[in-house]
This record gives sequence, structure tokens and C-alpha cells, in this order.
Amino acid sequence: MVVYRVRIGNRAVLCFQFGFVSVVPPIVKQICRQVSVQLRAIPNSTATIVNKRNAVNPSAVVPADNRLNILFGKLLFKFLFAVWVLLLISTINFLKRPLKAKMQKGNFVTLKIIQMGLNERICIVGGGLSGLTLAYLLSQRNIRVTILEASPRLGGRIQTIQGAIGTPLELGATWFSDMHPSLLSLIDELGLKKYPQFSKGISLFQTKSFEPPQKFFIPEAEIPSYRLAGGTQMLIDTLAEKLPKENILLNTKVTAIKETEDGIELASSDGRKHHAGKVIICILPQLTAKQITFSPELPDALKVILPNVQTWMAGAIKFTLEYDNPFWRKEGYSGMLFSHAGIITEMYDHTNYEEDKFGFTGFLNGSAASYSQKVRKEFVLNQLTDLLGARALKPIAYFDKIWTDEFILAENQLVQRPHQNNGHLVLQQSYMDEKLFFSATETAKEFPGYMEGAVIAAQSVAERLIPLLAI
Ligand SMILES: Cc1cc2nc3c(=O)[nH]c(=O)nc-3n(C[C@H](O)[C@H](O)[C@H](O)COP(=O)(O)OP(=O)(O)OC[C@H]3O[C@@H](n4cnc5c(N)ncnc54)[C@H](O)[C@@H]3O)c2cc1C
Repeated sequence: MVVYRVRIGNRAVLCFQFGFVSVVPPIVKQICRQVSVQLRAIPNSTATIVNKRNAVNPSAVVPADNRLNILFGKLLFKFLFAVWVLLLISTINFLKRPLKAKMQKGNFVTLKIIQMGLNERICIVGGGLSGLTLAYLLSQRNIRVTILEASPRLGGRIQTIQGAIGTPLELGATWFSDMHPSLLSLIDELGLKKYPQFSKGISLFQTKSFEPPQKFFIPEAEIPSYRLAGGTQMLIDTLAEKLPKENILLNTKVTAIKETEDGIELASSDGRKHHAGKVIICILPQLTAKQITFSPELPDALKVILPNVQTWMAGAIKFTLEYDNPFWRKEGYSGMLFSHAGIITEMYDHTNYEEDKFGFTGFLNGSAASYSQKVRKEFVLNQLTDLLGARALKPIAYFDKIWTDEFILAENQLVQRPHQNNGHLVLQQSYMDEKLFFSATETAKEFPGYMEGAVIAAQSVAERLIPLLAI
């Protein structure tokens, strides 16, 4: 469209040209005394008013006004866009009505996916591996997801810290194997690198504190344990990078979930309310039972199971040590230690992928939680000095973490057998009229408790959820 400001004598009038069609106000026709007038663009961005026989009315030669052209162009575009949006909404509503009616009558209808729930907001509670994998799977289908995470960081039971000289040190999940295909394909898809856990050399087994350790060799494992180059946190960071930052809310602990007429309302401890079409709880079932109130209440079968699902690794104490050189490797040790006698119960070499940063990681005896970190460090270094010599006494850094914080443990931890109720049938179902689902590794049918379980759980929810989001 082109807009011309036509000056005729001392009067100015707006005229419009849409392709070959000219829209000229009657006043111009009167003044020009033409029965039918036409605007015709001529060089130098001017136009002239001509009659049908191309006779020029000299008083009506006008300049094209570029500012007006831009303004009117924008206004027209906005108007046409608004009309298009209105038409689209009414078409979708029109299509939805008969489908909903048919479904309410109980008829089986094959839903053709017209548009993937673009209007429906999905809230994921918990930004651990399961929640982030699920968000990633949904976002690949253009489904909008918001993650509500209670702690100030993402990753949950995955936590890699950088040592004093930048060694990636694992305080949480570390190893996986070829038996974990879902995790392995996610790692591949995200372009991350795995490498085998170093295990070559003499390993140690301390049976009694008053006997020297037994030395043994572990043959090269047929199915090795792997670690992730850069640390397991790479998995979390890479998944998070693929999601819009503004849709990840940290320090947002969900405390209540209420079914409403058109969806679900979540309340968080900071007093905020969040609305969603569907909610997926990716936190530990025991925490769900203790920290979140549901309205209406959850079915009895689920209420009984939730507090009795064992939480994998709750209460574990993981330690890491950073050294500037791998003195144990040079003396033929693998860095592997199993002990019934000292504060360290299990330990492994923790050299990085590039093999230029060194250390150990492992688990401490559960009773070590009652010592201060300073005392734990002393015990760890004394045990290692006895076993590996004085060089063990001078690490660059020591870190440990007792996994008992509010993000993993409800106040009264129920001591249960490993994997008790993990993957229970009630955790595989949806609630609140297909608006509420459960993920997290403890809900997985296979490998519950492991990273593999966290990915399997996310995949399983995505498979059930995506067809429901088709309008
Ligand atoms: C010390 C340790 C060592 C481990 N080693 C291994 C290993 O070597 N190999 C392996 O495969 N697995 C290992 N695991 C297990 C592995 O870490 C888990 O299987 C996996 O990380 C679980 O992921 P998830 O998303 O299911 O749960 P989580 O990682 O627990 O994520 C749940 C998230 O929910 C958040 N949250 C809690 N309450 C709320 C709330 N009310 N509102 C909002 N957010 C909330 C938490 O802060 C957390 O971020 C280890 C775990 C630990 C603790």
C-alpha cells in the first residue's frame, strides 16, 4: 500500500493506493471535477491525479510521504495480524468443541495432532536429572515447560564442584555403564564424552584396623564403569542450556498443589502461585509426601506408598580429594580401596578426562556425619597416609558432602531396604484427571535410584504426556 498526501490548492487530503486500486476521498473528485480519478505513481516518489483519459490535473501533483507510508504500513500490518489471530483462535475453538463433546460421551476418537498443546503450560517440580530430561524431551516438541526448583542450583543429586586447581570433583552421581542405554543415548545426543573409570593396578582391602591391608588386582572390567568428561554436571548444564532461562525458577520450593477448574495451581514457599495445565512431580516420593499438600487429597493407595518409597543415597557421605600429581599411579596403585576398618569405606581414582588433574573420590562411613568436616578430613588423610604413604597427607583440597539436606530428606527419614517400592505401579499412573504425573528416578520401573532410572522415568512420562497435549 502507498499513501499520498494530496495537496490541492491549500487543502491536504490522504489518498491510498493498494496495488492497482486507488482509494481517493470524494473531495478530491469534486475539486478535480473528475467522474473517476486514479492515482498514478510517477518517478521521484510523487503521484499525480489523472482522469481516465490520462489527462493530468496540474493542481494535483503531490509528493509521496514516506513517514506516513511507514506508519500506515505498520498499522495495516497490525490490523491484518490481529484479524488473522482472531480467525485462528476461533478456528481452534470451533475444532475443539466437537472433539471434547465426543470424548465426554465416551466415544473413542482418533485425535489427529493439529497443534501440540502450545497453549498448555507444563510445570515440572524439581530440576534434577529427571526433571531436566523431561523438560528437554517436551521442549523438543515445542511444548512450553516451566521448572520449579527448590534449591539455588540445578542438578539435585548430581553435583560436580571445581577443586582449588579446577579438577572436576563429584559430590554426587559419578558412574554409569553399558547397562544404562537410556542414559548413554542421552549423553550421545547431547554430544558429551564418556571415559572409563581408571582401575589398573593394586587395589586395597582393609578387613581389620590391626591387620595390614590385603592387596589385589582387579582385571580390566568387561563392562567398565564410565565417567563423564568435565564431570557429571555437564549433563545438567547441557540440558539446562537447551531450555529458556526464564522458564527455570530456582529457590522455588513447591508446597501445595491444587486442582482447579481449568488446570492446577501450585504454591511455592515464597508465597507465589503458579498455574499449569499439567504438573509433573520430579522430586523424591518421600519429599512429595512430606512437603506438598494436595487438594483434593491424593488417593489412599498413593498416599500409603509415597512416604515408603526408599530414597536412593539419602544419608550418603561422599568425599573428594584433589592432588597435584597421581603419586599412587606411579607406585602401581589403582587408587581403589575398600575398607571395613577406617572412615573411608570405598574410594576410587578421580583423575579427569584429560589426565592432567588428579584426586580421589569415595564414600565415608555413615557415622562420620557426627564429626565436623575438619575431623572427617583428618581421619581420611590419616587412613590414606597409612595405606599410601606420606604424600597422601598433602592434598591441594578436601571436600565432602553429607546428603541429608532438605532437598533429599524429609525430616524423619524412614530407613528402608534398598529400592523398596521404587517403580511402584501407583507411581506410574496419572492423577487429577490426567493433569498430575510423577517422575524422578525412584519412580522408574528399571534402574530406579540410578541416573539411568531418572532418564527412564522422564522418557516414560513424556510418552504418556505428549499424546494428551495434542489438541
Ligand atoms: C552421593 C550420591 C552418589 C550417587 N552416585 C551415583 C552413581 O555413581 N551412578 C548413578 O547412576 N547414580 C548415582 N546416584 C544417584 C543419582 O544421583 C540419582 O539417581 C539422580 O541424580 C536422580 O535424579 P532425579 O532427578 O530423579 O532426582 P534429584 O536429583 O533428587 O532431583 C530432585 C530435585 O527436586 C528438587 N526438589 C526437592 N523438593 C522440592 C520441592 N518441594 N519443590 C521443588 N523442587 C524440589 C531438589 O532440590 C532436586 O534438585 C548418586 C546419588 C548420590 C546422592
